[in-house]
Amino acid sequence: MVLEVIVDLSNDSIDRTFDYEGDDCPLGSRVAVDFGSKHLIGFVIGKKETSSYKNLKKAKYLDSPVNDEQLQLMDFMRKSYNLRYIDVLRLFIPSKLREERNPEYAQLFLEIDKSRTFDELIGVIGTRSPKQAECLEYIREKGQFMSLLINLFGASAVGGLRKKGVVKESLVHERSTPMELCINKKERVVLTEPQKHAVDAVTDGDGVYLLHGVTGSGKTEVYQNVIENMLSKGKTAIMLVPEISLTPQVLGIFRGRFGDSVAILHSNLNASEKYDEWKRLKTGQAKIAIGPRSAIFAPLRNIGVIIIDEEHDTSYISDNNPRYDTRTVAEYRAKLAGAPLILGSATPDMETFQKADSGKYHLLTLPNRVAKHELSEMEIVDMTEEFRMGNRGIISDALKTALTETLNKKEQAMILLNRRGFASFLRCNKCGYIAKCEDCDVSLTYHKDVNELKCHYCGRRYHMLSKCPSCGSTSIKQGRVGTEKVVEEIKSFLPEARVLRMDNDTTRVKDGYSKILTPFSNQEVDILVGTQMIAKGHDFPNVTLVGILEADAALYFSDYRSSERTFQLITQVAGRAGRAEKEGRVILQTYNPNHYVFRFGKSYDYIGFYKKEINARMVTKFPPFTKIVRISVNSVDEQDCLDSTKVCYQAVRELEKEYGKFVYLGAQKSPITRMNGLIRYQVLMRLVPDMYYQIIDKIYKIVDSNKPKKGNIFVETNPQSLT
Ligand code: ADP
Ligand code: ZN
Ligand code: ZN
Repeated sequence: MVLEVIVDLSNDSIDRTFDYEGDDCPLGSRVAVDFGSKHLIGFVIGKKETSSYKNLKKAKYLDSPVNDEQLQLMDFMRKSYNLRYIDVLRLFIPSKLREERNPEYAQLFLEIDKSRTFDELIGVIGTRSPKQAECLEYIREKGQFMSLLINLFGASAVGGLRKKGVVKESLVHERSTPMELCINKKERVVLTEPQKHAVDAVTDGDGVYLLHGVTGSGKTEVYQNVIENMLSKGKTAIMLVPEISLTPQVLGIFRGRFGDSVAILHSNLNASEKYDEWKRLKTGQAKIAIGPRSAIFAPLRNIGVIIIDEEHDTSYISDNNPRYDTRTVAEYRAKLAGAPLILGSATPDMETFQKADSGKYHLLTLPNRVAKHELSEMEIVDMTEEFRMGNRGIISDALKTALTETLNKKEQAMILLNRRGFASFLRCNKCGYIAKCEDCDVSLTYHKDVNELKCHYCGRRYHMLSKCPSCGSTSIKQGRVGTEKVVEEIKSFLPEARVLRMDNDTTRVKDGYSKILTPFSNQEVDILVGTQMIAKGHDFPNVTLVGILEADAALYFSDYRSSERTFQLITQVAGRAGRAEKEGRVILQTYNPNHYVFRFGKSYDYIGFYKKEINARMVTKFPPFTKIVRISVNSVDEQDCLDSTKVCYQAVRELEKEYGKFVYLGAQKSPITRMNGLIRYQVLMRLVPDMYYQIIDKIYKIVDSNKPKKGNIFVETNPQSLT
């Protein structure tokens, strides 16, 4: 039989099938092949009786990791996003299966030395190593895999125990899951009417459901009940959560309810652990896949429901090869399986809400918080007023007082410093004025190298400002405050406070998140100062104050979604205050207290915000009323880059003439003109959506036949940023 094989090499020139001779096997099978001088893994995606090539080489069958439904999904993604076969196929298989070697593995398992009493062992450890004692206590009853122990107690504690000979080691062929410890058995609750309605609707329905409800309104409870109903029908489920909210708490709740039926596809797992969880799903031992966006590729059959929690989260968009939007992929996979898709959020993506509003999606609403307290009202502090009163610091007097009071009550605070878009905009400190593009109504970006302001959507350039056109003040500055600066300022009026920072720098180290969140959750820290990453998913009952600094920083980011992102961010972080017994307070600092984002944000009025914002999008012709398409060209050689850009631009111009569906079309250097040694250009357009699918296919063809010689080219729709 002739097998049509995709080999495991990512390269444009071999993005097609190669014929091999082999035994009949299902499509999606994995084979070992000789390719040129290389020995490679390949995937069978077609079969035929004869080939037009002679003397075919042999393909050796290994196994069948990819099923038909996944192959259909692969095809859909390839066509929708203009991706290579192999780049999509790799999404479906754990990295262990990219080697021919048998992926089964054995792991070191540690138990206490039972020939001595526990007290004797503790005596051997001594009093100077409390971590080792803690670890020994943990494995006292049942033992544990070494990799998990290292995760929990650190390599040096585990190494210490082994050196001191207080543990027995053995090789065990069994699965280990790093989340084993955190099983959290919750009492069953009686669903509220809106929850019950949502569960029933999804259980018997199909299509896409938007589950809209503020934090704490009981969405997770709805997910669990729907999953339970699907399992009882003999079906399986996928639940996606943003990486950052994949916390032990959340996983513990699901493990507590569904036990070993849950497989976790966390990116922190090592290759063996990932393979192991993958295999449990593949063989049907596990029926629920929980993970970040990659879990949408889980090897499940007979899917009953797919859930995307916090559906507005940007982590669902992959903006590196292979580029895709997980929500679109999930919608297609759900349709293939005949299963409903639930998109859950307190602050849905504007496009998602518009689809629900227009009846394309079903809208389910959980109007109230289940918990004792309603969401804390936001107090808005006008920073231009602070400036006038002589406060040149980052923290307002109101927030200083509130922080002091909170610490006096032995409660905790979180301070969010909004960093998004910071480097780029200019602001008048006196009146809060921000320069915007006259054509696009998005904020201009300051380009230091040429000392100019630029619009990233249309390329229009403006002179740098020397004084504020609105009030004449020369105190016009590029804002740039770091979390260190905030901590410093807090220390100046609260020298005793225990403060930790959480940002890109402090979390980059191994286990960075838990090194910060664990002491905060144990109340060994009073104030947590952080960027966006503190906004999500965490549940700290003793946090009663949330401060938001530079609330408007994201508003000035040169992005048509800046208002939407700001609304999402402030309502999310505000939801961290007063989650348990104690009432919370939120103080938001801004230079634009009257901006509609804050007017609606103050009372968590998503619908009010949505109505205002969707109108603005319609007027300015931004998504969902258009689709923004960007062709990115890069090359080591500027001329090469420019040549390819020009040809593509001309070809798109022809499309514009033919279809007339363009709101805007232009070509320019990318805002960041050089990245990783490559020169970058882009062709940018906005299309009226009704002919999008026809036009985008033609654009893919244009791009594929005009590649730069010393670089690459790709197309994105509604890209996350235009940098
Ligand atoms: P969300 O996912 O919308 O933030 P959760 O589902 O986590 O909300 O619910 C918030 C809290 O309220 C949880 O502690 C949950 O156990 C509890 N809860 C949810 N639904 C109910 C209910 N019907 N009755 C009592 N408690 C509930
Ligand atoms: Zn513009
Ligand atoms: Zn001014």
